[in-house]
Amino acid sequence: MIIRERDDDMTVELICVGTELLLGNIVNTNAAFIAEKCAMLGLSMFYQSVVGDNPGRLEELLKTAMERSSVIILSGGLGPTQDDLTKETAARVMHRELVEDVRARQEIQEFLEKRGRSITDNNWKQALVPENCQVLYNANGTAPGIIMEEGQTRMILLPGPPNELIPMFEEQVYPYLHKLQPEIICSKMVKLCGIGESSAETKILDLIETQTNPTVAPYAKTGEVHLRITAKAESEQAAYELIMPVEEELRRRFGNLIYTDDPEVTLEMAVFRLLKENHLTVTTAESCTGGLLAGRLINVPGISEHLKEGYITYSNEAKEKLLHVPEEILKEYGAVSAQTAEAMAKGGAQAADADVCVAVTGVAGPDGGTKEKPVGLVYMSCYCKGKLYTEKNQYSGSRSKIREYSVASALTLLRRAVAEYTNEVNGCGL
Ligand code: ATP
Repeated sequence: MIIRERDDDMTVELICVGTELLLGNIVNTNAAFIAEKCAMLGLSMFYQSVVGDNPGRLEELLKTAMERSSVIILSGGLGPTQDDLTKETAARVMHRELVEDVRARQEIQEFLEKRGRSITDNNWKQALVPENCQVLYNANGTAPGIIMEEGQTRMILLPGPPNELIPMFEEQVYPYLHKLQPEIICSKMVKLCGIGESSAETKILDLIETQTNPTVAPYAKTGEVHLRITAKAESEQAAYELIMPVEEELRRRFGNLIYTDDPEVTLEMAVFRLLKENHLTVTTAESCTGGLLAGRLINVPGISEHLKEGYITYSNEAKEKLLHVPEEILKEYGAVSAQTAEAMAKGGAQAADADVCVAVTGVAGPDGGTKEKPVGLVYMSCYCKGKLYTEKNQYSGSRSKIREYSVASALTLLRRAVAEYTNEVNGCGL
């Protein structure tokens, strides 16, 4: 038997057993659940596998897992039928005989009797456990879970049905693993807008490269960058004490580009809060985004107090009719231009009698691009209480990506305009 000799680097491996999983008949929610819990516990999981109800292949996989991982968690195949062979195979590779567990037998009997289900001979198979194991009694089903330890190898067998696996994991396996790995992982997300991923990364390259605990990692979202600070410590408090100075450093470096550190808050929510604090009404004047921008704002409950109406002005005629964009501007500069974006913003605010209007006009593609105005060129302008903030952006990607990026930039521009207004009025912005 191959046993890991050193245990200073605890690694977990997950094996989900079931032909149904391989065929795609069921979604492997157990894997997502167990992986997330292990990450919370600070355990490193380097491998996950799915294997059918086949003892030969499972045995092979278990032997490989024992060579490279110290904790092997299995889900499924503990049922009473002939094809449920996880326990038999695991016991074999751990060189254990199966013996009857008196309490498990009694609990199986009580479980089935309570539900008026008849007991068949194969039910008693579930009362068999490998010798010298820890039995995880199952209040929600008939298959007990099992923990086997041999040297530095630990093998944990869990029943497949999530309503059995989840409580067994939470009540019995989590505390067991927690004792093995007393450190927990905590993280904090800082969300930025108005900066690209590579610029954000460049600004914190030293932190990314030198920090080991906590670590900082950037995640690119459409039009946003999220920075995750992750710390490993004995307690949540200790982890947050490690996270705090790094968060302060990020605030020093990114300032107003950070729109929240609350995982629940989206960019549109941050914009909504600013509008609310400043008692401002807003409207949208959209060409290429065709309502997506208004849709993002309308994601936020309570926005009806601030967004009374929005305009989709896809054609030149609509821009003239609804937003009063002068014909000469459209003729001279074209629909995709800074001048048109500004006229749309001003005209939209006037038409809706709103304090603020954000306008977007661009070439979403895939056709319609020219040398001067290529696909992905998007102008946006925000009118805010008499001032105009205008931006030219060049995006790449599919039509839908260009539209999504445009919306994120428009929200960012709206946030900047309202923040500057707040700054002027109150002397403090974001
Ligand atoms: P039982 O005692 O019910 O036979 P078992 O331990 O033998 O349980 P399986 O027979 O492998 O488990 O699976 C039983 C059911 O549990 C599956 O039909 C499926 O609904 C669910 N299940 C199994 N594995 C998973 C998984 N990885 N993710 C989500 N659900 C699963």
